[in-house]
Amino acid sequence: MLSNTNWFSTQAISDRLTRVWEPHVHGFFRANIFHVVGTDADLVIDFGMGIADLRSALRIPSGKPVLAVATHVHVDHVGSFHEFETRLGHGAEAEAFARMPDADTLADYFRKQPDALTAAAPTGITPEAYKISPAPLTKALAENDIIDIGDASYTVLHLPGHSPGSIGLLDQRTGEFFSGDAIYEGGLVDDLPGCDIEAYKITMNRLSDLDVDVVHGGHGLMFGRDRLWEIAMSYLASKEG
Ligand SMILES: [Zn+2]
Ligand SMILES: [Zn+2]
Repeated sequence: MLSNTNWFSTQAISDRLTRVWEPHVHGFFRANIFHVVGTDADLVIDFGMGIADLRSALRIPSGKPVLAVATHVHVDHVGSFHEFETRLGHGAEAEAFARMPDADTLADYFRKQPDALTAAAPTGITPEAYKISPAPLTKALAENDIIDIGDASYTVLHLPGHSPGSIGLLDQRTGEFFSGDAIYEGGLVDDLPGCDIEAYKITMNRLSDLDVDVVHGGHGLMFGRDRLWEIAMSYLASKEG
């Protein structure tokens, strides 16, 4: 069985940003977790499956404030959300964060997924017995809210379509953009319960115009402004006719 610390893989994108993921989780559910080190607080964006202790794996200095922001309430992004004290997410999904029902998290898809895990979880949990701990928001976010960690601050963008309360976080000074599952490099999902294709088209139009430098998506690797435009345009083209 893997220990807690080697359950996660990490990539230092810069001296202040680390990407974390769970290599032994089935590819459909293998999502990105981002840890941004700020001068006043650390920011953690998304929380994996919750089948290992994420907070201790991030090695945040004790006593340092941590802002935990969930881009949306899907199972692959909120498993360890409850491990953090200050929990932020969009108000449209506030009730779902408080109770984590399958109807919103889609955790039943994970339980039924063949080969959901390719190694035993550190906690010993099996996919069949999988549950998400409730993680009520300590503050509900809305469009244009600001998340300030000292040397960087992020504007909340409400990006519905993939889910009702999907958000992105944009540093308007540097163009660093955390996009959740609204847009990423890989197959986008708009056909699950809670998805809304008409809302997603509006979101994609908005994203295609966004002034960004680098996009860190909920899945896959980072990409730049031109690729953001291409992915958005190809989504919109696929919905025409
Ligand atoms: Zn999702
Ligand atoms: Zn996802």
